[in-house]
Amino acid sequence: MPLYRDEGIVLRTQKLGEADRIVTLLTRGLGKVRVVGKGVRRTKSRFGARLEPAMMVDVQCYEGRNLDTVTQAESLASWGDVLARDYTTYTAAAAMLETADRLTEEREPNLQQYLLLQGALRSMAEGVHDPGLVLDAYLLRALAVAGWAPSFHDCARCGAEGPHRAFNLASGGTVCSVCRPPGSAAPAPETLSLLAALLAGDWSIADASSGRHRREGSTLASAFLQWHLERGVRSLRLVDRRDPDALNPSSSRVTWSAVPLTATEPVDERFADAFAAVTKVEQAHAAARAAQA
Ligand SMILES: [Zn+2]
Repeated sequence: MPLYRDEGIVLRTQKLGEADRIVTLLTRGLGKVRVVGKGVRRTKSRFGARLEPAMMVDVQCYEGRNLDTVTQAESLASWGDVLARDYTTYTAAAAMLETADRLTEEREPNLQQYLLLQGALRSMAEGVHDPGLVLDAYLLRALAVAGWAPSFHDCARCGAEGPHRAFNLASGGTVCSVCRPPGSAAPAPETLSLLAALLAGDWSIADASSGRHRREGSTLASAFLQWHLERGVRSLRLVDRRDPDALNPSSSRVTWSAVPLTATEPVDERFADAFAAVTKVEQAHAAARAAQA
């Protein structure tokens, strides 16, 4: 049976039978793979503890008819242990793993997403930056790598140079006064600067930001993510977001139907929607704040 070896990060695990587990890995070379860890739920398992979410492992598998089976797993980094000690980092890491799972396809190599996730988990485990900021930086960059880079300065629709005050999810970020759809939000300029810094990896600006702007920023980052993950997002890749006609459903240029008329709906509603579905992290942040109060 053909064997292969790769390094990967465990995204999630599911029980299989009495003692086995299906392990979903994002690997460096092969993209996302689902493999069987035989007997890993037994306490005596040789590598059970290495195949837990957020663990980075070097795995060897043999190809099966349906699912491949792990034959060896060596730990390369045990961030999972570190992250699990703190509720906030644990839930933030869980949201990153889930996002990576949603943004990648099985057996489609995606080195950028792999390196991004690896860097974000390492950064979160090192604890140098606020975990909420690390998460938001990860979400924004993961979206950018997936082809949905939000704009926080120039107009997302016509490209007019910013800064602009109005912000519209469906348009892809900040919009100028000409392009601004009705009901666009108007976040604080500092929040937009923070998001731009997170996207660019400018930690000196991000670390100096205030709690208020971090909260507003994480709301927008989560809303962006929800917007792209909840709708038939694949087809959106075909859209040229700089083309104002692309958001006009009556235009003959529209080649997709997944994006409905919502471009003209009040953005606040969409935020409410995003809030309702917002990741566990948001709730964890709230719980952590409540616990501190
Ligand atoms: Zn514009």
